[in-house]
Amino acid sequence: MATRSLFNPLVSKPSLCAYCKAPAKGFVYGKDETWFGACSMAHLKKVREGGRLKNVAQMSNEGLDYAIKQTKNTYLTIAKDTGSYVMHEWDREKRELLFGKAIREYLNWANEQAETGKLERTLRDGSD
Ligand SMILES: [Zn+2]
Repeated sequence: MATRSLFNPLVSKPSLCAYCKAPAKGFVYGKDETWFGACSMAHLKKVREGGRLKNVAQMSNEGLDYAIKQTKNTYLTIAKDTGSYVMHEWDREKRELLFGKAIREYLNWANEQAETGKLERTLRDGSD
């Protein structure tokens, strides 16, 4: 018998507000096994009513560059652990570790950029 894994919004929270695409702040609306985040009670109400702004995320090359630099040590550590620099030979778990790190670092950069307005600010030197 196949078991269905149920999404648990308490464990896997939506990152963005479904209405304005700002970071979600713990408000979650579920309907028909779909889950939507919201940044505020006001936007939770908009989401519930089906409202959506047409914001589309943009990728920044500066942020990408930052994420790549921050991920270098993780890549090298995994390569040494697995004995291979060829990513597709790694276990899925190792690839998730690397890509998760890259995405987190990009989001850290984007968050810092949004708060300071600076495009080229370095958050950390990448030595950790
Ligand atoms: Zn919102």
